[in-house]
Amino acid sequence: FYFAWAGMRRADRTFLTMHVALLAGGRGEYHAALDYGLSVFPVAFYDTEQRLALARRFRPRALYGTTSYFGHLAAVAGDEVGTLGVEILLTGAEAASIAWFEKLQRQFKARAADRYGLTQMAVDHMFTCEHGIGTRERPGILHNVDPYVLLEVIDPETGRHVKDGEAGEIVVTSLYRTDVPMIRCRTRDRAVYRAAGACPCGRSWPGIEIGSVGRIDDMKKIKGINVWPQAVDELLFGDPEVEEYQVRLTTDERAGDLATLRVMPAASLNAAKRAALQETLAKALRQKIGIGFAVEVLAPGALDRSTYKARRWIDERVQLRS
Ligand SMILES: [Zn+2]
Repeated sequence: FYFAWAGMRRADRTFLTMHVALLAGGRGEYHAALDYGLSVFPVAFYDTEQRLALARRFRPRALYGTTSYFGHLAAVAGDEVGTLGVEILLTGAEAASIAWFEKLQRQFKARAADRYGLTQMAVDHMFTCEHGIGTRERPGILHNVDPYVLLEVIDPETGRHVKDGEAGEIVVTSLYRTDVPMIRCRTRDRAVYRAAGACPCGRSWPGIEIGSVGRIDDMKKIKGINVWPQAVDELLFGDPEVEEYQVRLTTDERAGDLATLRVMPAASLNAAKRAALQETLAKALRQKIGIGFAVEVLAPGALDRSTYKARRWIDERVQLRS
């Protein structure tokens, strides 16, 4: 379903950027791609420069890997990624905002097709259809491959199923795993549920909304306010000047929370432009997230770009847990 909906054809040259090792992630992708009949180039063994050299030579139609790795590749290659002839980015293995997907699509001049799976399920079972990631106004839907997996999205407090358009915790049941049964497994993943028929494609398979997925445990309580890292992500990657960022949470001398946002711009900025970006972001964060952040604008290259799953939040607060 994933490959067909993404517009992949048999024998399409596909660079697999995930390692094929003993982990489910990477092996699942490799075998699925072979089974579909793609020409798979397992390039994870090579470093990013070598992968780029191989891409220039073999001109893959698709890249298959984790979402944040494609961001890393684009940052290393610069404008060249838009000239490699890549048409399809098979993203996944982590939650990402619509703004992040849009940025990738612009950089590669390709369209993204996303997937969702769980290690416990040993499979990906939700995929975007022909409508892909959609738009911020109308986000795409990761459709659950219904005949094999039962998807529920529940209110974690009451255990009741949420309505179309509401957020809750993803609960999955595998209808074919017999060795390690998976029955109503609570994932601690939070997402917005979309009922059957909610997607313009008209399919009767329900799913979850793109850009709405996050870990329930990821929710940060900062200065007494619930903050979803996804919302901060959306805001920052919606600004074309922002290349990468990091949020550091600390405790001040009065035991209050301190949130510091360190932003790495795409290009080097003079003092006036730095100050302007700092002010714009601080204002936008206060308005949309509801708390004040200390904003520092760094030099390009100052932050390590994440090559696997993005690690953007550092929580160093003195925790008082009851
Ligand atoms: Zn659809």
